[in-house]
Amino acid sequence: MTAELKLLRQLRRSAGEVALPMPTSKSSEPQPAEDLHYPFDAAPGPDEVIEIRPGVKWIRLKLPFRLNHVNIYLLADGDGWTMVDTGIGNDETIAAWTRLFEGPLRGTTITRLIVTHAHPDHVGLAGWIVERFGCPLHMSQVEYLQSAYFQHRGAPERRLAQRLFFRRHGMDEDITDQLLGRGQDYLARVSVLPAAYYRLSRGDELVIGARRFAIITGGGHALDQVMLYCADDKLFLSADQVLSKISPNVSVWAVEPEANSLGEYLQSLAELDRVVADDVLVLPGHGLPFFGLKARIRQLADHHEERCQMIEKACRVAPQSCAELVPVVFHKHALDAHQTGFAAGEVVAHLNHLLVERRLTIVPTAEGVIRFAPT
Ligand SMILES: [Zn+2]
Repeated sequence: MTAELKLLRQLRRSAGEVALPMPTSKSSEPQPAEDLHYPFDAAPGPDEVIEIRPGVKWIRLKLPFRLNHVNIYLLADGDGWTMVDTGIGNDETIAAWTRLFEGPLRGTTITRLIVTHAHPDHVGLAGWIVERFGCPLHMSQVEYLQSAYFQHRGAPERRLAQRLFFRRHGMDEDITDQLLGRGQDYLARVSVLPAAYYRLSRGDELVIGARRFAIITGGGHALDQVMLYCADDKLFLSADQVLSKISPNVSVWAVEPEANSLGEYLQSLAELDRVVADDVLVLPGHGLPFFGLKARIRQLADHHEERCQMIEKACRVAPQSCAELVPVVFHKHALDAHQTGFAAGEVVAHLNHLLVERRLTIVPTAEGVIRFAPT
């Protein structure tokens, strides 16, 4: 066991029981709020910009999902501004940016673009921003390459791989049909990825205006998501790794069927707990900025351990497939096909982690579906 996992175990032991809503859920169960503190009651409206600190601006853009918004931050950078993330690549977001650049951001020049990860709500308009301002794009190498790979998501062989992956986990073929029928969704939601980028690596230091940011990267939600930490000013741009009210999606997909996404996520949380101060203002990719980073890290780690225990408990009664475990883990939620796909990805993430920790083992069946049983 790594030192980080040991640390995480200690964290879990010292934390109380917490239930979190799943990211795609309608329910917004209240959080044990006493540990978290929100300095802003409300987010900026569609044509508004909030100055969080001198030289730190907060913008919120709409998303066409249940998670209906994404946060963008601008950091003063000499004569211009560094933009962190871009919004989803659709006409509404282009219209929203155009209104902002003609309104509250009139005269603002974006001199550098940082994209935290390859999901379309973050990288979506990178091509459009880079073209408009002629600015460089900064990403981690893995997230840039992942964005390039996502642009070809709809390839038939990739869809077939996802179908076989779901079949092996016992998922309903109708749901798989509905999910894969969504086809080229990703392509419709990103502008063309800029053909060149500048690499951000963990451990780098980035000077943005008067501030120095340490680059931290972490897996689990995305492969190598970039976070920015300014220790002097106690600012932490957490991207989607630590959100205040929802638990970021941590899934496994056909492209890497044995990935231990949850193990990577927990390791990243443990690293953040170790290297980032507790009194930072957290600027997340979704939701409101907040204080209480370490309390939130504990809640997120507890939430996943709770799910692991639910799964182990069910598997002790009888071996279970992923498809059988989805309603066990997500019993509070009515799921449509899209949400069922994400729920399955999350359950596999927990199963793979439990396999790595040797808490479960695989039981193959004659039909080719795999079930899981205690070791
Ligand atoms: Zn996001």
